[in-house]
Amino acid sequence: MADTIVAEAAAEEQKVRVDLGARSYDIKIGRGVIANAGAEIASVLPGARVAVVSDQTVAGLHLDAFTDSLTEAGIDHTVLTVPAGESTKCFREFERLCDEVLDARLERGDAVVALGGGVVGDLTGFVASAVRRGMAFVQVPTTLLAQVDSSVGGKTGINARHGKNLIGAFYQPALVLADTAVLDTLPLRDFRAGYAEVAKYGLLGDAEFFSWLEANWKAVFAGGAERDEAVARSCQAKADIVAADEFEAGRRALLNLGHTFGHALEAAVSYETQRLVHGEGVSIGMMLAHEFSERLGLVGEDTVSRVHKHLTDVGLPVRIQEIPGQLPTAETFMDIIAQDKKVSRGALTFILTRGIGEAFVEKGVDPVQVSDFLKEKLQA
Ligand code: NAD
Repeated sequence: MADTIVAEAAAEEQKVRVDLGARSYDIKIGRGVIANAGAEIASVLPGARVAVVSDQTVAGLHLDAFTDSLTEAGIDHTVLTVPAGESTKCFREFERLCDEVLDARLERGDAVVALGGGVVGDLTGFVASAVRRGMAFVQVPTTLLAQVDSSVGGKTGINARHGKNLIGAFYQPALVLADTAVLDTLPLRDFRAGYAEVAKYGLLGDAEFFSWLEANWKAVFAGGAERDEAVARSCQAKADIVAADEFEAGRRALLNLGHTFGHALEAAVSYETQRLVHGEGVSIGMMLAHEFSERLGLVGEDTVSRVHKHLTDVGLPVRIQEIPGQLPTAETFMDIIAQDKKVSRGALTFILTRGIGEAFVEKGVDPVQVSDFLKEKLQA
């Protein structure tokens, strides 16, 4: 990152296992793991040829190091690039990539590799799930958000005219390689946005991890061994939840802490990333989820202040008013929330909390209470 001090590479590689029976896989985490990517892929997928998909920004920064490691391991490969940005998660790019993988004559046992952020990972995973009814898939996530969230758990897909991520598949990778040194080139705003998901793991189920982050976040941003530790602990938290509930029948919904409000905020600004990126929406959403839990008498003011302090310390937004430009009314927010969420007999499902690390799924939230709360927040 431009305005942080980059620590010396020192940490050893860490490994997290995602335990899904025959579809289990490892996540390798550490500074410089890309240099060994070819050998790692060859050991998991011996003899496979590879199509590497990357966006133009990431390709300019990290593609050479990655393809060098493939060449070194004797892996025959082809490179496919897409434009950077959310609009790339679309049918047009999906179709083009499917055709290009087939043009390269890759077979079913060959691999499609995503080298990039969540956009490249989601799109490429969906391509891997579809071409020849499923090719091997490897994730090499290059944003913090992708390393701690989108590359783990097998959700892949593209956006539709009707909304984000509406077309896709659960499709697990064979391997995830999270090189924490590539995050050094990530703009600070994107790093912070990914950090919101790191903090989420502490807030939803691990109070000790949240305390650790309060003490160590500066080193996580700076890129020392603490960054690897934060990525590994986040991946472990997600892996545990995914292993218990791969297809989101229950517990996996906890990962949506802050996301109901966050998604509504993103939709309200028409996904204009100059105004709000996903992780910023999640940060404000997590703050609102804690404040709403306080309103319902579930947590005390001390918990709310602690969350507020940590998110603001790292530079994340916590109030709706921090989003630049005109904001919609509480009614519009409620319309968006009702569209986004299953409304069951007039009640909404939210992730609420009883304290740091004690989030739970509440299916009986009264929409009137949410609406009154939002009206107040928009006036505050
Ligand atoms: P992104 O992929 O658009 O990356 C953000 C920007 O950073 C892009 O411009 C990219 O080119 C650039 N970039 C990536 N790596 C870089 C690096 N190392 N150095 C410099 N620049 C770099 O966005 P994202 O935040 O990684 O992911 C967002 C996407 O992830 C959304 O589409 C969201 O829906 C999806 N997502 C999916 C899941 C899932 O479970 N599948 C979970 C959360 C989010």
